[in-house]
Amino acid sequence: MLPRPGGSDDEGGLGLRLAPAIFKMRSDEEIEAEAAAEQLKSSFDERPHRRFNPLTRSWVLCSPHRAKRPWLGAVEKTETTKLPAYDPACYLCPGNTRAANGTVNDKFEGTYVFDNDFPSVRSGDGDFVQLNEDDLFIAQSNRGACKVICFSPKHNVTLPDMTVDEITEVVRVWRREYEALGRLDYINYVQIFENKGSMMGCSNPHPHCQIWATEAVPDELAKELDAFAHWRANKNGACLLCAYVERERARAAERVVCANASFTALVPFWAVWPFEMMIVGHQRHLSSLAQLTADEERDLADIIKQVTTKYDNLFQCHFPYSMGIHQAPTTSTTGGPSQRPPQQHRHDDGDGRGEENGDDGDEDLFHLHMHFYPPLLRSATVRKFLVGYELCGEPQRDMTPEQAAARLRDLPAVLYRDLPPATEQEQQQ
Ligand SMILES: [Zn+2]
Ligand SMILES: [Zn+2]
Ligand SMILES: [Zn+2]
Repeated sequence: MLPRPGGSDDEGGLGLRLAPAIFKMRSDEEIEAEAAAEQLKSSFDERPHRRFNPLTRSWVLCSPHRAKRPWLGAVEKTETTKLPAYDPACYLCPGNTRAANGTVNDKFEGTYVFDNDFPSVRSGDGDFVQLNEDDLFIAQSNRGACKVICFSPKHNVTLPDMTVDEITEVVRVWRREYEALGRLDYINYVQIFENKGSMMGCSNPHPHCQIWATEAVPDELAKELDAFAHWRANKNGACLLCAYVERERARAAERVVCANASFTALVPFWAVWPFEMMIVGHQRHLSSLAQLTADEERDLADIIKQVTTKYDNLFQCHFPYSMGIHQAPTTSTTGGPSQRPPQQHRHDDGDGRGEENGDDGDEDLFHLHMHFYPPLLRSATVRKFLVGYELCGEPQRDMTPEQAAARLRDLPAVLYRDLPPATEQEQQQ
């Protein structure tokens, strides 16, 4: 077999079940076609090429040869300050007063949810209204709700420091909020996201995430819904991410980083950010957190711990990222007629089918997944910027997703901060 780009052949270390399809007898033509595809792929290891993202139906430029270039750009500060478990000045710590309106946080002992004091969307903003002047000046109102979720009462922990039980509690709160907000008639999408680290614009190190639940289905989701509908219409009713994750798991040594019984974490074939990852359920098709069994809630918590531990181990720092959960819109959970405002922008891939693929009222169309977008490039202090060609042309990356996955895969599963300090003798080696 020809060498695989960027990865080792160690498929056994991940404990993955290989797809049964790869054990079937193959014809000479199939073997030849696979060898040709392998050769083509290994040539992409060294030469500039573009990769297609079928989820957003967009392209990314990949320039693996540039990874070796010297770095003369900005070097960021690392966050090395040791934090206390309780900070009297932190507005997210238990029992503290939030400056915005004098509200005092409960003395919470687990995961804690409250309404955002500075919401970007509000519930009481009247009925849905829309402006359209000659298809040139288009605007629409957007009602919603914004919440903050503290993962833990402890100021100085992050997700990888927490136990799987503690993260499972966070997953359950996400699920409860998705269900409760989704039942509101003016809410059609519930976006859960975490900004971690000052590099990602997060102003408070207390471990927390946010929920912005909105009347409109946001643009990234609208693009993905179109992609799922497009795939289903053109591939005999199949699901895009069910198909994708099965193929990735069959070639575990390429882009898969880690996995458990229900979820696989991988660097997508079309990743834009250097160490971008996606968590995708592989065991069965799940559209939202509301469909998780108790075992799957725990498996999701477990894979989140694995991913965030790998990230922190990569450069032995508190690894910054933006994380988002993508799941089915909540339009159909209201029971009544759809309150969802029309999407002005539908992605059209140039074949004229963009408009007709909008059967996104089907709550099973979507496949639940999580995105992690980390900005770090080659160390804890060098970050990637999306500027220049990426703003004006299309996103670009240097090392290949296979090289990134191999580095993440080879990292220990235990958080570096939890390891006993190295002895002097070990340090000298
Ligand atoms: Zn705090
Ligand atoms: Zn699926
Ligand atoms: Zn997504």
